[in-house]
Amino acid sequence: MKRITRQQEAIIQVLLKETHPLTAYEILNRSVKAVQSINLSTIYRNLKYLLEKETIRRIEIPGDTPRYEIKDSQSYNYFLCDACMQVFRWHSKTNVPLESQLQGFLIKNYSVSVYGTCCDCKR
Ligand SMILES: [Zn+2]
Repeated sequence: MKRITRQQEAIIQVLLKETHPLTAYEILNRSVKAVQSINLSTIYRNLKYLLEKETIRRIEIPGDTPRYEIKDSQSYNYFLCDACMQVFRWHSKTNVPLESQLQGFLIKNYSVSVYGTCCDCKR
């Protein structure tokens, strides 16, 4: 197995600290403290590697730049704030399991995107 590089370690640490998915540029801004030589093309190369290793996942919200987060066993829904452009994760409270709404289908992952203004920006 290939050893994890300092850049990959920095990216993982940045994503572990966050409760919402980050863009490549946000990851760069936060990981430059740990690895000063890091740049956007290093970030993209390492994100690609971490995606292949299934350590992280890419979030594609229509109308937004792709974002990345640590891949855990949970499925999230996302809320995109039109003021601060942050993406927030949330869980649906519906009591009807998806499996019974999509009978016969094999569900591998799902997400719902909601657009609006977050609590802080709404004030
Ligand atoms: Zn906001």
